[in-house]
Amino acid sequence: MKYQKRIGVNRKSISGLKSDDEVGDELTEQNVNDINITPSIVCSNCGALYANGEWTWNALPNDHIKGVCPSCKRIEDHDPAASVIIKGTYFAGHKDEINHLVKNISKSELSDHPLERLMDIKDGASETEFTTTGIHLARRIGYALQLAYDGELRSVQSDNDHIIVYWEKDL
Ligand SMILES: [Zn+2]
Repeated sequence: MKYQKRIGVNRKSISGLKSDDEVGDELTEQNVNDINITPSIVCSNCGALYANGEWTWNALPNDHIKGVCPSCKRIEDHDPAASVIIKGTYFAGHKDEINHLVKNISKSELSDHPLERLMDIKDGASETEFTTTGIHLARRIGYALQLAYDGELRSVQSDNDHIIVYWEKDL
C-alpha cells in the first residue's frame, strides 16, 4: 500500500507480549500476522493508532499499548523525512497565498495520514523551506504548487534518504 508506513517494532517482540497459550507453538510468524494478534499501539503524544500494519486516526481499541508514532518521533528529533524548497522571485509577492495553500494541503493530508505532517517553515533570504514528516506530503505540495502556478518542479534524494522537492518560479 502506497501510504502504509511501518513502525520500527519487532513483531516477534510484540508477539512475545502474548502468552504461549494465546500464540500457540505451531504458529509461524506469518500466521501470527495473518490472524492479527499483534496488540495495537497508540501514540501517547498525538493519539494516532497503529493497527493492521498502518497508522490511522481510528478509534482506540480496548486492548492497546502506548508508544510514540514515527511522526512525533521525527518532530521531537528535528529529523524531517522531506523538505519542499521554494526558490525564485515569485514567492515574495505571493507569500501569504502560497503559505495558505501549503497549510491547507498539509491539513487535508494529515486528516487521512497521521505520518504526513508539516513540521517547520524556514523563511530564508533566497529560499523558503517547508519540512515534513513524510515524503508523500512534500511531493503533494510540490505538485500542487506547479499545478497552481506552473514554475519548475524537481526532486532529489539525499544520501540519508531525505527527499528534497524544489519548486522554482521567477516573476
Ligand atoms: Zn504521534
